[in-house]
Amino acid sequence: MARYGMALDYKNCINCKACEVACKEENGVLLGADKHRIWVGVNEIEGVWPNLSISSSSFLPSQCQQCDNAPCEEVCPTHATYYDENGVVRVDSDKCILCSYCMNACPYDARYVDDRTVTVDKCTFCSDTRLARGLTTTACQNTCPTKVRTFGDLDDPESEISILLKTRDHFSLKANLGTEPKLFYLT
Ligand code: SF4
Ligand code: SF4
Ligand code: SF4
Repeated sequence: MARYGMALDYKNCINCKACEVACKEENGVLLGADKHRIWVGVNEIEGVWPNLSISSSSFLPSQCQQCDNAPCEEVCPTHATYYDENGVVRVDSDKCILCSYCMNACPYDARYVDDRTVTVDKCTFCSDTRLARGLTTTACQNTCPTKVRTFGDLDDPESEISILLKTRDHFSLKANLGTEPKLFYLT
């Protein structure tokens, strides 16, 4: 048992989208599907047309925040959304009735409808794929050329992520909502 989380050195993101492609490949998401499991937000574009620029720190790579106090789990009427033994928020597609309550409740817009199963899906920290095969990295982490993501066990004081969070300042998105995300953005 672990308590998985992810640290993102987001200022290193160059918006190459390798993470999006790797996630789709690993988790069977259709190529071309937008904002399915993972995306890179562009915070702001500076300048005046036609002299526009985007600084690298304007990219905000994102995915499900794996909240410890997840509104999506609270509202799910069938308990299709649940915390697994590693604290990962998951969806049991057999129980999902596509009521969309969770999609409306998620403050991070992290859920989508999988057209093939006609149920809700989202980032699973690669639990069904890479972790199930005994790997210790996620596809998005593994492929990133600038090493934005560090995935690991928050309960292990010796893990790379625990050491990063002890030694680097960090923040969570919409922390004021009390969702207690397990994604941490390093400053
Ligand atoms: Fe649920 Fe959204 Fe939090 Fe993910 S980010 S655990 S989908 S509320
Ligand atoms: Fe639960 Fe599915 Fe409804 Fe979401 S859409 S709240 S996972 S039953
Ligand atoms: Fe996709 Fe896995 Fe990264 Fe989640 S952890 S965004 S499922 S590659």
